[in-house]
Amino acid sequence: MKLLGNMNVRNGQLYIGDFSMEYLREKYKTPLYIVDEEYFLDNCRIFTENFSSKKLSTEILYASKALLNIYMAKLVKKMNMSIDVVSGGELYTVLKAEFPKEKIYFHGNNKSIEELKYALDEKIGYIILDNHQEFLNLKMLLQNRDIKQKVLLRVNPGIEAHTHEYIKTTKNDSKFGESIYDKNTLKLIREIVSFEKLEFKGFHAHIGSQVFHEDSFLKEARLMMDFTKSVKENLNIEIPELNLGGGFGIYYTEEDAPFHIGGFLRKYISFIETYNEKNNIEIQKIMIEPGRSLVANSGSTLYTVGGVKNTYGGVNYIFVDGGMTDNIRPALYKAKYEACIPNKIEEKPNYVYTIAGKCCESGDILIKNIGLPKAQQGDLLLISSTGAYNYSMSSNYNRIEKPAMVFLSDEDRLAVRRQSFQDIIRDDVL
Ligand SMILES: *Cc1c(COP(=O)(O)O)cnc(C)c1O
Repeated sequence: MKLLGNMNVRNGQLYIGDFSMEYLREKYKTPLYIVDEEYFLDNCRIFTENFSSKKLSTEILYASKALLNIYMAKLVKKMNMSIDVVSGGELYTVLKAEFPKEKIYFHGNNKSIEELKYALDEKIGYIILDNHQEFLNLKMLLQNRDIKQKVLLRVNPGIEAHTHEYIKTTKNDSKFGESIYDKNTLKLIREIVSFEKLEFKGFHAHIGSQVFHEDSFLKEARLMMDFTKSVKENLNIEIPELNLGGGFGIYYTEEDAPFHIGGFLRKYISFIETYNEKNNIEIQKIMIEPGRSLVANSGSTLYTVGGVKNTYGGVNYIFVDGGMTDNIRPALYKAKYEACIPNKIEEKPNYVYTIAGKCCESGDILIKNIGLPKAQQGDLLLISSTGAYNYSMSSNYNRIEKPAMVFLSDEDRLAVRRQSFQDIIRDDVL
């Protein structure tokens, strides 16, 4: 397993910063989500320092669906970034964290009337419109309100980014946004612009997730700027902003070859500045929305091994005390991860194991065929890079309690309490 962030080895044991995994198990029990807070903040700085420009104003929106709780929202606030939410629940969470309202962006392809109302009541910065029905809903809600709501329109530039089918978002038949090739899209923009209670700021696009080709992002930026220009001229309006989404690919295993994010962001900005100027597009503010690339690598999940089973069929399982309930990604889209046995970190990986969870599903596999030292009951097992889309996708399948989450810096800080059996029946009506 590649050591990431502040992971280090002392006396044959894995540490994150000054904390041994044994200490964390002792104090918080397993399974446990761990976030290397310093590493996360350093990574935020890489984004804010490199995605900046003398010619354009820039804004980084953390895509909170990757990992969100109140403490996390406070860290994002501390880094002066903005945040995007995709549901009433996410909005509620960031408001509880006292996130600056003008820096909240509300996404989603089917925001309910209640959610839109909630966003308007709270006077958040931006609503990102997805489609015509949503425009009509918003228009209806604004009738008797004396405000002007900033909006972006999500459009789909039809780029095929090389990634998994389920995390691709901009094929022409995607459920997200309106196509830039569809004539009706221009009609919709005209309607938005002519409704005086909306302040149309520009377009949003997001081409998918875990995208490894710099070219896909440059192509997206070019298409979106061309589109912005053609609409601007066609309707004779100003379109000062552009949000290019997230999706920057990261390292999970040796199969992944991510680009160097700092270098890429500088290249991205300089491409946008030049293209904007040369073609008189007149964009003044540019935004990106990283989720995974901000937080995935700084998270890990710590488990305890319950036992090892050598099957008649030849597969040797390590059973851990969590599984698809805390990390659905391997089952959902064959995501791959690295792992280690923290208490045997320096021993040779002479055994091949499949790591399985405790849920009643044969598909409850976290890692297939990984080389590890000989494992036994009571060992720790750590899976790295679980910061994004693990906790946020967790479930109570089999009525398993959700793990706690601890953030590590100079101190260890509990951010999410482990669920109890009482939590499991909390919503059941007696
Ligand atoms: C999910 C999402 C993102 C973040 O994607 P990552 O792959 O985590 O960077 C950004 N923008 C929108 C609209 C999204 O839906």
